[in-house]
Amino acid sequence: MEFTSRMGTLPRIPDDLTIPQFLLDSHHPKRPVNTHRNPWLIDETTGRRIGLEEIRARTYAVANALSGMFKIREDDVVCIFSPNHVDYPTALWGIHRLGAIATCANPAYTASELQYQLELSNACLVFTHSLNLSIALEAARTCNIPSERVILLDSPQSAEFKQYLNVDNLVREGLSQEPNFTERRLKPGEAKTKLALLSFSSGTTGRPKAVAIAHYGLISNLLQMSVAGKVTEDYTTWEDRRYRPGDAIYAVLPFYHIYGAVVILHFYLFCGYSLVVCTRFNFTQMLKSIETYRINHLCLVPPMIVLLCKNPEVKNHDLSSVRFVMSGAAPLSSELTEQLIKVLPNASIAQAYGMTESSTTITFPRMDMKICTLGSSGMFLPGVTAKVIKEDGSLAGLEEQGELFVKAPSVALGYYKNLEATAETFNNGWLRTGDEVIISKEHEVFIVDRKKEIFKVRGYQVAPAELEGHLLNHPDVADTCVVPIPDDYSGEVPLAFVTLTAGAQARVKQNPAEANRIKAELIKFVADSKVHYKRLAGGVEFIDVIPKNPSGKLLRRFLRDKAKELKQSE
Ligand code: AMP
Repeated sequence: MEFTSRMGTLPRIPDDLTIPQFLLDSHHPKRPVNTHRNPWLIDETTGRRIGLEEIRARTYAVANALSGMFKIREDDVVCIFSPNHVDYPTALWGIHRLGAIATCANPAYTASELQYQLELSNACLVFTHSLNLSIALEAARTCNIPSERVILLDSPQSAEFKQYLNVDNLVREGLSQEPNFTERRLKPGEAKTKLALLSFSSGTTGRPKAVAIAHYGLISNLLQMSVAGKVTEDYTTWEDRRYRPGDAIYAVLPFYHIYGAVVILHFYLFCGYSLVVCTRFNFTQMLKSIETYRINHLCLVPPMIVLLCKNPEVKNHDLSSVRFVMSGAAPLSSELTEQLIKVLPNASIAQAYGMTESSTTITFPRMDMKICTLGSSGMFLPGVTAKVIKEDGSLAGLEEQGELFVKAPSVALGYYKNLEATAETFNNGWLRTGDEVIISKEHEVFIVDRKKEIFKVRGYQVAPAELEGHLLNHPDVADTCVVPIPDDYSGEVPLAFVTLTAGAQARVKQNPAEANRIKAELIKFVADSKVHYKRLAGGVEFIDVIPKNPSGKLLRRFLRDKAKELKQSE
């Protein structure tokens, strides 16, 4: 059976607008006139407040300068490699005003990881932050992007940064120049294929790939969430509303990731919220900011909820302004939900589910429940059609487990310039999620397992194929398989099963202490070139042979279970 949404009906989705035209230019449906006084963005550190007119002016100026100074044109790709910053959206929408495409990179990346993204997306300019400048320059150099095309989002005062352009410079330049570009209104239907983002995800298998997300996909997801969240329904009384224009959300999740980009940056602005923009996550600072800015909504990942539940500092802060906490990106356990209810007794608590390949959200928390059903990720958004395929290939009904496939207007166009991977994951409009679900009699969706290789460490994707490829470059490694093991804080962490080369095996035989030395070296080998969450925090285990099926495919599930056993026997 196929499942459709029980959360409302989608309005017509504009198919001739880019995301900044939709969000910044049309009269905002949900931000009543009197809340125009409320800023759109607040810089957590400086308290700087930025309203719509300033955002529009800065966005236009950035576009004008990018066009005039760097000749950025339609369909060029520009990278943003920065932590959250109040000028992040200025750069993003400036790129979009030109019809260009943004690829947003994880600011924790090492130079080689950034280089991979720059190369795969063919980026020709990089916005970065003073915290990331040296890595941005190193990666840009290897991709033949000149240092003049590395631009800071922030405006640091110290001398070492003076030689680099920053967004304030671009804004001055862009406002002083004659207009040198004409923003195009798309033809009807064109937004469906006009690319807005190349967001990186591994999908069900292999190394990270660039997910091609169209403006229409992003706008669709905003409208889908707004219908499910009854954002546009005026009959709900103020007290019943989950989304109250003028309220504040703590924008801590990274804007480079699709959850931060679509749900926090775009959806919450669409709902008329002020975003308190956090550049670096620090739990104590988050508690202080909740008090200072009277934060009403928190969109978090499960490890942040672990801190809210377990960190004793929470008692020293007044968190009574928080009305809604939403978890996403990885499973939120029932136990943790119950603990959070005790910490924030007045707040509504729920989780949502989605993925980069669907421009984020597929299921959304129900409006009729203050606390979500434990373990549930909510219900399918309006516009989603879903089917669940059982192990034997037949369609699952209610309360039966299987792999989830979805169709939705927000589904991405595929993987950029990668037809083979696109065909594996996107088929006849169906997106293969790689997640195993059970849909309850009430049509709530429970994510119960996954079929795909990738796993999540603190909500971040880890692609085993990427780590395996890297480990195979080490002279002592003959074969390897990376699997997740459960971890209380991170959810999961990577563990590598490794078969040593004959030479390394002989060394270990001669001197057993060599085994631990090699393990430590392999852990360092990964840590030296990969971002923090990809490190082998689960350790290294030696194994005689990596089990494979007759066609040579790794038997990951077998090793995943073995890793769990090892963990339990510790
Ligand atoms: P990403 O593209 O990085 O957002 O990763 C998407 C994947 O994260 C999904 O396919 C799921 O495996 C996982 N995920 C997202 N939200 C949830 C959730 N609420 N519960 C369990 N897994 C989730």
